[in-house]
Amino acid sequence: MSEAGVARLFGVTHRYGTVLALDGVDLEVRRGEVLAVLGPNGAGKTTAISLLLGSLPVQAGRATVFGRSPGAREVRSRRGAMLQISGVPNTLSVGEHLDLFRAYYPTPLPASRLLAMAGLEEVERRRFGKLSGGQKQLLMFALALCGDPELVFLDEPTAGLDVEARRGLWEEIRRLGEAGRTAVLTTHYLEEADALADRIVVLHRGRVIAEGTPASIRARTAARLVRGVTRVGPERAALLPGVVRVEMRGRHLEVLTSRPEALVRELLDLDPDLGDLTVTGAGLEEAFLALTREPRPAGADG
Ligand code: ATP
Repeated sequence: MSEAGVARLFGVTHRYGTVLALDGVDLEVRRGEVLAVLGPNGAGKTTAISLLLGSLPVQAGRATVFGRSPGAREVRSRRGAMLQISGVPNTLSVGEHLDLFRAYYPTPLPASRLLAMAGLEEVERRRFGKLSGGQKQLLMFALALCGDPELVFLDEPTAGLDVEARRGLWEEIRRLGEAGRTAVLTTHYLEEADALADRIVVLHRGRVIAEGTPASIRARTAARLVRGVTRVGPERAALLPGVVRVEMRGRHLEVLTSRPEALVRELLDLDPDLGDLTVTGAGLEEAFLALTREPRPAGADG
């Protein structure tokens, strides 16, 4: 294992019955980075994280954390994981949950610090069952950090949080990175990956299809966003060269395409009065769409 790699998957393939969830995945988590594992539903993100947590057995390939088996006791005391909300007793209070978890670790963070990080000071005595969905999620975050872990896995940490709570959690995740901790998060939110991650791994249908800094992932796609005011409607525009997505934004037609020059030529042929034309580089969202786009059979709808 390289010095920098704190967690790795080597050629991992994982099946659930006949479903191929991971197909020869190599993944490296480097010390001190915030790594986002990004992918559409069913891409294999949770499976990859579960293998690194040792909560799923490795079927083929190898998984290591701190150079050892992910389930090893010593490994578990040095890493934290944000658990799913189900399976947590409703009758214990926030403070009791924290104390229970802190007791597992040799050098836990003080409860007051954890409450402040999660913004839960005011509900310390409230029972879990009486918390809002967002507060439950924030408690899960605090529990993941109880042991002051070197490495923390966050599976969709901000799902279901309101904007303010999401921003608060982002701030805490950033601080983890600044404090030299390593964090792996899975997310559907491109904005989140862009805001937090030093590196992004894009999974699609069980394979790593792109990997790099948010900027390099953006640059990997040749897709460009063509915008203009035109009488060509979205249905006709969908048939233009290299089209990935078509949208109307107010009066503007917006087309994401992998063949911008050919598209602009055809668009001008169709509508010589085309106005307010701009061609810009793709954002992370566009890059992601272009990377994970299913090849569409010719003439298929949508
Ligand atoms: P999501 O973003 O929807 O949570 P994901 O990227 O985390 O998806 P996984 O949960 O790893 O994806 O699932 C990968 C594939 O394996 C999917 O096709 C899923 O339906 C399948 N799968 C996951 N868990 C099981 C299971 N216990 N039994 C059967 N199939 C499963």
